[in-house]
Amino acid sequence: MNVLRPRVLRLYRPPPPFIGHVRHFATARPSTKSMNSSRFAIATAITLGSGYLIFSSARNPALSEQQQPPLSAFTTSTPTSTLAELDDMGNRIAVRSKSTYDLWLSLGIYKVCASSWIVNLAPHLISAAEKMGLSTPVYWGIKNSFFAYFCGGETADECIPVMEKLTRSGIGSILDLSIEADIDHAGDRQEYAESAEHVTQLTLKSVGAAAQENGMAAIKVTAFSSPMTLLSLNKWFEHAREEFASHMDQDGRINRKTLLDITLKLSMGKSQVDLMPEQVTDVDWIDYMRLVSPQNPKAEPVMLDAGVSNEDLADFKHCIERLERVCDLAKTKHVKIMVDAEQSYFQRTIDHIAMLLQAKYNHRANDDDTSMPVVLNTYQMYTKEAQSKLAIDVELARREGFVFGAKLVRGAYMVSERKRAAELGIPSPICDTLQDTHNSYNGGVVFLLNKIHQHAIDTNQPTSLSSSPIVFMVASHNRDSVKLTIKEMDRNGVLPRTGVVTFGQLYGMQDQISYCLGKNGYSIYKYLPYGQIQEVIPYLLRRAQENSAIFGGGAVTMERKLMWDEAKTRLWGQPTPEVITTPATDGAAAAPNTSSDGVY
Ligand SMILES: Cc1cc2nc3c(=O)[nH]c(=O)nc-3n(C[C@H](O)[C@H](O)[C@H](O)COP(=O)(O)OP(=O)(O)OC[C@H]3O[C@@H](n4cnc5c(N)ncnc54)[C@H](O)[C@@H]3O)c2cc1C
Repeated sequence: MNVLRPRVLRLYRPPPPFIGHVRHFATARPSTKSMNSSRFAIATAITLGSGYLIFSSARNPALSEQQQPPLSAFTTSTPTSTLAELDDMGNRIAVRSKSTYDLWLSLGIYKVCASSWIVNLAPHLISAAEKMGLSTPVYWGIKNSFFAYFCGGETADECIPVMEKLTRSGIGSILDLSIEADIDHAGDRQEYAESAEHVTQLTLKSVGAAAQENGMAAIKVTAFSSPMTLLSLNKWFEHAREEFASHMDQDGRINRKTLLDITLKLSMGKSQVDLMPEQVTDVDWIDYMRLVSPQNPKAEPVMLDAGVSNEDLADFKHCIERLERVCDLAKTKHVKIMVDAEQSYFQRTIDHIAMLLQAKYNHRANDDDTSMPVVLNTYQMYTKEAQSKLAIDVELARREGFVFGAKLVRGAYMVSERKRAAELGIPSPICDTLQDTHNSYNGGVVFLLNKIHQHAIDTNQPTSLSSSPIVFMVASHNRDSVKLTIKEMDRNGVLPRTGVVTFGQLYGMQDQISYCLGKNGYSIYKYLPYGQIQEVIPYLLRRAQENSAIFGGGAVTMERKLMWDEAKTRLWGQPTPEVITTPATDGAAAAPNTSSDGVY
């Protein structure tokens, strides 16, 4: 184990100002561009799949699903052997775990997703079929193809068999209620409140189901509140951030007088409030954010003068109450809650809420408490400010004495964020190049692991779930990032099975990496979306659309090749001798998707 000097990330370097009005919320109905594919997929997958299933099972019954050996018996693996397995382009560990039907279904889905014209036509076909009253057969087709491939079921309970199957391969699940919110009819707070209450009930069930299989549950804060409230508070946080950035001294602090001036500016000249506690002379960014937070009653008049309404403040309280109900249950049942990251015009509010929840739920009861953290927030490392944000929140957790929980992702809203920034004439919040994003992501992994290691040195304790001040998930399909994490875990003395560092991939994506990690004893989870078929269709359309570029990339070509080889083996009973070329880097091999947001 090497002793690394922790790489210090600069605390608070304010990113370029980023304010603006949101032109529209997420689209909720199937965008017309991608619907054609499902029909083709259904026809292809079902016709060929069932034929193949019958044919190959009859020929090679020994390879049917029930007779597969379980993969959960961990081998005596080492980081080196795991890395070698990840690099082994003939490694069929994931495809072998599939039933012949699933194998054929996967091949059909991959084929369809690689054809952008089919994907683009799919939404038109679905909406046409819906208008013609053909929803039932179309939904049936989708349910048995794309839905079966990318989702766990229609309810949390329906996901349990899928979770059990994953568990047998050493893979955990993160239940993800995938209802795309329809937020077109802005203004109706009552409707949002009812919908948020409904989502809360469903999420409580999700936590209950996750507990049965040692899983986690993902939440989207936007489903727990009215979007107007999240937007309004986001603007408040953004203004507050800008004011701090333009007034702080060279040590990144502001004094009482400056804070008084800031309150005057924030309230548009209407109120000057002394927010600073008596005994304090100046504050840094972290303490400042506490003072201007909606949790500080003294800040309320300033917020009201700044344009945050009483309804917003009331909604915000209700949103926190709903989320606390979820976290209370999660804590009791030892289920972790992943707070997903969303669009930048909501994200500051989401971050604020996630940190409030962490401060409440991530305190260890005693030195043996391995149930922490309950709440993990998501960091979109494709943003220019991601690394400083990560460093600030780690420091906040240290000061407050709670366990810092994070999920690192690259980010899924690149195209819409850039488009919006261009429309508003503001700098894009996203890294200028893909390489910058890779550097930011990998830098975040190294930063957190160095912090964990430093804590182990300072306390003279080995890193474990009951001692580490930081627990995080590497949520990525990027093989290079996964490999880097394995190496850095080793260098920083973080053992695979401790659960201090976990890995995450989406269900139906990069199974080869997931199964390889699971087999080698790493903590690996699959995001398992679920929901009623008609509610999940927009998600599936996005997945098919957004994946079409990725499905043409090297990593996926490799998976398809492995599946095809496995299919041939089951069919003819002999392995194929062909060798697959390793893609240079997964991120580079897959053409960046320039037409729509990411795969999430
Ligand atoms: C378990 C899990 C949970 C997730 N949760 C969330 C979430 O809560 N919120 C969220 O936003 N996303 C989430 N995602 C999606 C994630 O953000 C990515 O969109 C997705 O995983 C692809 O990134 P990757 O790390 O797998 O890397 P790769 O497979 O290497 O893909 C890299 C991709 O990054 C994109 N990209 C990013 N920055 C740039 C740039 N500057 N220039 C060009 N291209 C760029 C490109 O489209 C490229 O294809 C999640 C993903 C997983 C696996």
